[in-house]
Amino acid sequence: MKAKTTQGREIDLKPETLDVLRMRLRGPVFAPGDLGYEESRTVWNAMIDRKPAGIVRCLGNADVIACVQFAHDHGILLCIKGGGHNIAGLAAADGALMIDMSLMRGVWVDPHKKLARAQAGCLLGDVDRETQVHGLAAVLGFVSPTGIAGLTLGGGFGYLTRRWGWTTDNVIAMNVVTADASLVRASSDENADLFWGLRGGGGNFGVVTGIDYVLYPVGPEVVGGIVAWPTSEAPRVLELYRTLAEKAPPELTLVALVRPAPPAPWLPKEMHAKPIVALLACYSGRPEEGEKIVAPIKALGKPIGDVLVRRPYVQMQTLLDATQPKGRRYYWKSEYLSSIEPALCEKVIEHAARIRSPFSAVILFQIGGALNRLNAEHSPVGNRDARYLLNITSSWEQAGADEPNIAWAREAWEDMKSFSTGGTYINFLTGDEGPERIAAALGKGVRRLAEIKAKWDPQNMFRTNRNIKPS
Ligand SMILES: Cc1cc2nc3c(=O)[nH]c(=O)nc-3n(C[C@H](O)[C@H](O)[C@H](O)COP(=O)(O)OP(=O)(O)OC[C@H]3O[C@@H](n4cnc5c(N)ncnc54)[C@H](O)[C@@H]3O)c2cc1C
Repeated sequence: MKAKTTQGREIDLKPETLDVLRMRLRGPVFAPGDLGYEESRTVWNAMIDRKPAGIVRCLGNADVIACVQFAHDHGILLCIKGGGHNIAGLAAADGALMIDMSLMRGVWVDPHKKLARAQAGCLLGDVDRETQVHGLAAVLGFVSPTGIAGLTLGGGFGYLTRRWGWTTDNVIAMNVVTADASLVRASSDENADLFWGLRGGGGNFGVVTGIDYVLYPVGPEVVGGIVAWPTSEAPRVLELYRTLAEKAPPELTLVALVRPAPPAPWLPKEMHAKPIVALLACYSGRPEEGEKIVAPIKALGKPIGDVLVRRPYVQMQTLLDATQPKGRRYYWKSEYLSSIEPALCEKVIEHAARIRSPFSAVILFQIGGALNRLNAEHSPVGNRDARYLLNITSSWEQAGADEPNIAWAREAWEDMKSFSTGGTYINFLTGDEGPERIAAALGKGVRRLAEIKAKWDPQNMFRTNRNIKPS
């Protein structure tokens, strides 16, 4: 079978060569045609269709070490799959040896020290469920099948970010298999340069096999959910969003969405696919307080649906899952914002009215709070001036409809990017966004990342990511 080297040359990977690797592993190896190969190689975004030469579902550090050693010895390109949710499909590369982490999903919680140790193949839901057994939570994202590794290595934000910062601000150590196939620990005491780089610099420095998170008391019940109105109410609803968000306590996170209504059971059938505006809220403090704070949302006009109620935190963490299924086609554009201006709200409404598919949306995430309090040099995730994130999410089903749906997102972004802080979220970059957008995401951190890369991966073995070349 054909494989690719790190230099992009095509080489023959003989079955007996792959057998040598097989003998060193506990986890299964898949070649094209094997049962399991298709499931591993496919990622969330159906726009991506890449075929690795071979796939290993690793069962522990030892398997990861064997893969990195094998790739090193044969000069073969490596790619790493966490949850496979990256929109640019960075987990899969043609001709590469894919390290699929999906069997490494253990989570160990120390409720006394308020720490969770998670294997890097975990999805967000794995960590949420195990930590909530103890009434604790890590700062993770909004959609439970997202991988913790990609999310954390690129920054990470969710309903708890306003209280405790980027996900990566709340990591205390990682285990990493580096380019020379050794297993090292990265923390502020051990390999501190590597630890700095991993907190926003992505998978540039090795295969992360475990992540240790600080946990906080959350739930088990929060006040959370969503309220929706017909789009004619959008000016009033976005004005409420703007003013409520500005004075919201850190326990409250608000998200505004303008989009065609999904076919959700809590929305009247006749409204499905019709334009709506919705506010998503989560108050992670005392529920009694949360009910008072979200009251103005529930009192606005005549909602067509209202499921903003007390609910378990783990359920809150899955509320959006059905709107983001694996296997659709996706294209996003994103910008950080320092505030929500009325003029931006007008643009959001204008561009949402031009959406070309029932699955697309313009979304405003509120993230300001704790992340703004650390200094820019704390870690490469940076963007310490970001208070909101504008996410123009185009999503559709047919390959033949790529062009108008991508064009819609690009046009909306062109018209709204002037509101940006100048920064963007590295984890939301699509495949056509290159080095200048990586620089916008990582800012001045790029130079230091290149130096760290030169020390830990001088041959640029880990390159199928938002790649920072060694300096
Ligand atoms: C539906 C959806 C919802 C999302 N919601 C949020 C959200 O609420 N908050 C947020 O911050 N982000 C969110 N994201 C963005 C998300 O953080 C990124 O897509 C992230 O890359 C996903 O991580 P993954 O492990 O699933 O990705 P993958 O596609 O598996 O990997 C992404 C990148 O990380 C690398 N990588 C993966 N695992 C490892 C590892 N063990 N060691 C080294 N490198 C590794 C991969 O090689 C690749 O370069 C969302 C994405 C989607 C599609």
